[in-house]
Amino acid sequence: MENQFDLIVIGSGPGGYVGAIRAAQLGMKVACVEFEPALGGTCLRIGCIPSKALLEASHLFHKTKHELAQFGIDVGKVALNLPAMMKKKNDVVGDLTGGVAGLFKKNKVAHIKGKGRLDAPGKVVVALTAGGTQELSAKNVMIATGSTVARLPGVELDGDRIGTSTEALSYPEVPGQLVVIGAGVIGLELGSVWQRLGAKVTMVEYADRILPGMDAELGTLSKKILEKQGLSFKLGARVKSATRKGKGCSVEVEGSDPIACDRVLLAVGRIPYTEGLGLEKLGVAQGKRGDVIVNEHFQSSVPGIYAIGDVIKGPMLAHKAEEEGVACAEFIATGYGHVDYDSIPSVVYTHPEIASVGKSEEQLKEAKIEYKKGWFPFSANGRAKAIGSTEGRVKLLADAKTDRVLGVHIVGAAAGDLIAEAAVAMAFGASAEDIARASHAHPSLAEAVKEAALAAGSGALNI
Ligand code: FAD
Ligand code: NAD
Repeated sequence: MENQFDLIVIGSGPGGYVGAIRAAQLGMKVACVEFEPALGGTCLRIGCIPSKALLEASHLFHKTKHELAQFGIDVGKVALNLPAMMKKKNDVVGDLTGGVAGLFKKNKVAHIKGKGRLDAPGKVVVALTAGGTQELSAKNVMIATGSTVARLPGVELDGDRIGTSTEALSYPEVPGQLVVIGAGVIGLELGSVWQRLGAKVTMVEYADRILPGMDAELGTLSKKILEKQGLSFKLGARVKSATRKGKGCSVEVEGSDPIACDRVLLAVGRIPYTEGLGLEKLGVAQGKRGDVIVNEHFQSSVPGIYAIGDVIKGPMLAHKAEEEGVACAEFIATGYGHVDYDSIPSVVYTHPEIASVGKSEEQLKEAKIEYKKGWFPFSANGRAKAIGSTEGRVKLLADAKTDRVLGVHIVGAAAGDLIAEAAVAMAFGASAEDIARASHAHPSLAEAVKEAALAAGSGALNI
């Protein structure tokens, strides 16, 4: 009975650990298999959390050095203590991954330490970290094995100077010159961190714009702001190779001179991770990128085997994985489970932040949906002025006939928090007028969202 469960979850990232907890709350006997020593997956160990800790620390450093004087605060010489900054980041990670272990205990989720492989439907063999194997069985298995870095031919990763986000979260010194391949989310966030700490950062991007998946106007505006901060962009540029040269590296870009640098960060996307899971043997259908193909209830092509999070299709976001983990557990326990994919927000934690929910203008045009647009700049928002962060704007897109909110796109201070209002409004099917008529505290940045909603209708008041 010790190895018999109702549900085995493979992987303890935000999708897996949250799904395991929800299943336990719904009365199931649950095991979660994880081969990394710490729980929490990419997000807690080498993703969302350490990157946000460094973004905050580097922002404070930069602000203290360059912006406090305007508030009448003279601090004298400001020095960087990189080891202390890294320790703070590691402490945050340690606290949170330890917290997941605590949540497992509280919810009686068995944590099996090792690498899991599907031997047959309902049978998982774990190569235990401590040595030996353990056979587990359950009626249901949830694959939550996440994703790994996408490689680029010619870019020779050496786990040190030519590396991925994992190395860039722990550089031992500030690189003099850093080349980032890919001006997507990771590139902009980690490029910002090292630029604020003193590196000269060049972002080399294949597309002709940054953040290709996001609303184009948002991308253009963000690029301007980030360029002013000192990031430099080479767009429409194809990287041919990145190699070690002496103590540094050389990046060859088609049609231009090679770029000499101290370090290279490869950030051209992530791909689903299913290595060693035994999916082929069981006939679990996978897509072209290696993703596990599932239906709307997260069931794979093999009965009893489910998959959620980065390992299936859709945006690779921690909160998307969480929603799917919960919905999958609920579906297994009750027969019902649902994720509202139209209201999943997306945030880039640069300064200012860049946040989006719903459809971009390009998507609405392509779908031939008639829309109206309201926007409001933070330069006209009282709170933004008071905190000295007036860059950016809120853009709200609503259906031309019904007034239903179809998309909200924000560049500005705390955009990542402001977008939550828009996501909730969209989840409830709100109209622009609903947002415009709701009282927003004064003075708050959220008033810019209300004003953008007003601008989509009868007109903004403060501009
Ligand atoms: P993962 O978090 O990848 O977890 C999968 C787990 O499965 C891992 O712990 C792995 O060790 C384990 N595993 C794999 N195979 C096996 C096996 N056979 N047996 C046992 N265990 C196995 N998203 C956001 O929403 N916000 C952010 O700010 C953000 N920042 C990011 C920053 C960086 C640098 C990176 C790389 C990613 C970031 N992401 C962010 C994306 C986010 O981390 C992922 O979308 C999220 O972690 C996916 O969750 P998951 O549970 O599907 O998989
Ligand atoms: P991404 O898809 O955001 O960006 C990759 C970028 O690389 C794109 O702009 C793409 O055009 C470019 N690119 C692709 N091939 C290239 C080439 N050959 N040369 C130059 N550029 C090339 O991927 P990412 O930044 O690696 O992030 C991976 C995943 O992690 C994303 O899905 C993202 O959602 C997630 N993530 C989220 C957050 C967040 O939510 N704040 C933070 C970090 C990562």
